[in-house]
Formats: sequence, C-alpha cells, structure tokens
Amino acid sequence: MTLQQIAASSSFDVSCDPATIYRLVSRLEERRIVRRIGFHSRAAHYCLRENHHQDYLICRDCGTVEVLDIACPVEHLEKQIAEESGFADLEHELEFFGRCGLCQR
Ligand SMILES: [Zn+2]
Ligand SMILES: [Zn+2]
Repeated sequence: MTLQQIAASSSFDVSCDPATIYRLVSRLEERRIVRRIGFHSRAAHYCLRENHHQDYLICRDCGTVEVLDIACPVEHLEKQIAEESGFADLEHELEFFGRCGLCQR
C-alpha cells in the first residue's frame, strides 16, 4: 500500500494526518515489520514482512507495484551464500523495474 492508501483506510477510527502516518510507517520500517518497495521518492509502497517472502515488479513510469508470480529465482543462491559465508538469517530484496502494459500504450 502507499501512504495515501494507508491514510484513507477505513481501519482508522480517527483521521490521521499524513505526517503521523509517515512517522508510524517509518517506525514499523525501522523495526523491520514492514518493507518499503518501489521508488522511494515517489509512490513508495509498503508491505508487511510476512513469513513467506515475495519479490516485486515495479513500473518505472507510473510506479505500479506487482507481486512477482514466480518462484523466487535466487532462493538457492541465498542458501549457497549462507553456507559459504557463515552468515545466518540471510534474506534478500529483489525488485525488477520496467514499464507496465498501460504505460506502453
Ligand atoms: Zn506503468
Ligand atoms: Zn526472492
């Protein structure tokens, strides 16, 4: 979700100003509860870090974010890196950038 979508959510009983929403989401990001994806300056999206990991496809022109609907292409690489480096709890963030169907018209 974008900050605008979060701010407009009916889950909030009280209306929150955008600065408050931004502070809350930034705190969740610091605590690694949410992950920021897409363009950080414009149309940044936030998603919950859940147990199963997802990679993303992002439109360079309109900033649309889609979940990649394929098996993660680097999961085996992650295991290999963990084994070879001795690092534990390895994770990665993969974002592909391109132009969506609508923006190509
Ligand atoms: Zn687009
Ligand atoms: Zn992945």
